[in-house]
Amino acid sequence: MLDFVQLEADLDQEERMIRDTAREFVEEHVKPDVGEHFENGTFPKELIPKMGEMGFYAPNLEGYGSPNVSETAYGLLMQELEAGDSGLRSMASVQGALVMYPIHAYGSEEQKDEWLPEMGTGETIGCFGLTEPEHGSNPTAMETYAERDDDGYVLNGSKTWITNSPIADVAIVWARDRSADDDPVRGFLVETDRDGVSTNKITEKLSLRASITGEIGLNNVRVPEENVLPGVSGMKGPLSCLTQARYGIAWGAVGAARDCFEEARQYANDRDQFGGPISRFQLQQRKLAEMGTQITLAQLLAYRLAELKERGEMRPQHVSMAKRNNVRMARNQSRIAREMLGGNGITTDYSPMRHMANLETVYTYEGTHDIHTLVLGEEFTGIPAYE
Ligand code: FAD
Repeated sequence: MLDFVQLEADLDQEERMIRDTAREFVEEHVKPDVGEHFENGTFPKELIPKMGEMGFYAPNLEGYGSPNVSETAYGLLMQELEAGDSGLRSMASVQGALVMYPIHAYGSEEQKDEWLPEMGTGETIGCFGLTEPEHGSNPTAMETYAERDDDGYVLNGSKTWITNSPIADVAIVWARDRSADDDPVRGFLVETDRDGVSTNKITEKLSLRASITGEIGLNNVRVPEENVLPGVSGMKGPLSCLTQARYGIAWGAVGAARDCFEEARQYANDRDQFGGPISRFQLQQRKLAEMGTQITLAQLLAYRLAELKERGEMRPQHVSMAKRNNVRMARNQSRIAREMLGGNGITTDYSPMRHMANLETVYTYEGTHDIHTLVLGEEFTGIPAYE
């Protein structure tokens, strides 16, 4: 596997073990039929508890059944899962970074005890409801709201593009609390079997097909007071979760690109044209040289990000740069790999075109490429240019 500047030589034993376990899992349980899932628009649901058993959901958290592995180990896990499929990494990212993380960081002791162990094993599936039909890049303008009633809150509104909502047991719904001054955004744990909750599946996707995506409709949904995340108020809540998930994406995208590279390298050696393997042509070698270089640069950024995160010095702007760069890199390189496979490259028998289609979603969700450009623009000039 491509590790040109030997970054993996510095891994400790636990990190190696997690990398190897995830890699074997993907080889054995994902790669054989992920192409079929992609074609059929299904997620291999039987892998959800298996992934829990393997400790793939938020292993970087501490306590409540989570082993608190290093940020590098967590990144490597995301990289290996996304080498399988971005849908698989999305499953682990949503469950771990977008649902377990906020419960861990902002939940009450009762909420942590109730949800974290079951989510860690995959017995309970969570989803994260921030995006709305009219508010994507600017979630601050969200319209979903909560109003107090005697023993809790009543929620109304709708969320869309929510990974796993049709199969989730619980959703973290971000909504404006209209009963408090200045309508702060709060996080509500909403069990999906409550009256008034609907979770329609979005079926028309041409990207991230091996992942379930849906809406969340909230029509006078009552939740008790104890379902509110007590430890956070305002946009800091959802944005801090996104920082965690984007960290995983910065690593994950490298996995998708690496898988494309390996597939293209193998194919170039195996495929004969004009009397020998196409890998002997300079044009093909140039493509591999560029792909290998770009992947290596992205790996360096991901490893550095892990160091900063481990030290508590990682800022959201660092994550913006890594997510932005690494996803763009993977999106561009997957296309080159696809090209190297000729006609076979457009089928699900090989991974590059599936990765290429998936990466359109990864480029768009968790802050579009444009939005991260604006984050960096503000970082370097001091001038916000969002409006
Ligand atoms: P818009 O915000 O409408 O953007 C449209 C275009 O305008 C983009 O190119 C954007 O970059 C550009 N644009 C917007 N604002 C600016 C600006 N100020 N300056 C320049 N250009 C701008 N959301 C969740 O809450 N939970 C999930 O689990 C989840 N999963 C998803 C799964 C999939 C498969 C997909 C596709 C999306 C998912 N999302 C999820 C939603 C995702 O985060 C949003 O699609 C994303 O934030 C972009 O919002 P939008 O689609 O409304 O696009």
